[in-house]
Amino acid sequence: VANIVAIVGRPNVGKSTLFNRLTKTRTAIVDSVAGVTRDRIYGKFDWVGRDFSVIDTGGYVRGSDDVFEGEIRKQVEIAIEEANIILFLVDTEQGVTGMDQEVAMLLRKSKKPVILVANKVDNSMRQTQSAEFYSLGLGEIFNISAMNGSGTGELLDEVVKQV
Ligand code: GDP
Ligand code: MG
Repeated sequence: VANIVAIVGRPNVGKSTLFNRLTKTRTAIVDSVAGVTRDRIYGKFDWVGRDFSVIDTGGYVRGSDDVFEGEIRKQVEIAIEEANIILFLVDTEQGVTGMDQEVAMLLRKSKKPVILVANKVDNSMRQTQSAEFYSLGLGEIFNISAMNGSGTGELLDEVVKQV
């Protein structure tokens, strides 16, 4: 049985940073300019003795200011089609955006398991900030910092539970 994890979310939330942390590579391009990841990228990692494939779906979105709903839709469709479980990343620095709500709606309609991941929780102050993502209607929030790694172990434990 293939365990395929897809990472979705609007540009600049940290999808590629998380991908690189999970796969311990620098395969995905991380840049402070939104939308830099050029294409869909595949990698591998293991956790508690189980093997996973991971997809960074960010490549369809080319820029923060001219992101089209259709491109986000495509990204989510790829994830729904190819993955067994979807990590939906949101950005605690930015809070809930219209695009997050759009993605949440598409994911709720799919029958795939979705884990809502609040990224950029680099310190304990941000823990309380991320509670606003409950409004996305996807249940429990997993706080992580893709940058410093905090929370990623708990997140992977949950992935193992759900696939
Ligand atoms: P993507 O567009 O979703 O793939 O996002 P990237 O992985 O390219 O990251 C976008 C920006 O957010 C980069 O400047 C990253 O360094 C930054 N970033 C990613 N994860 C974190 C995090 O956990 N905390 C903070 N403070 N910044 C992060
Ligand atoms: Mg990216």
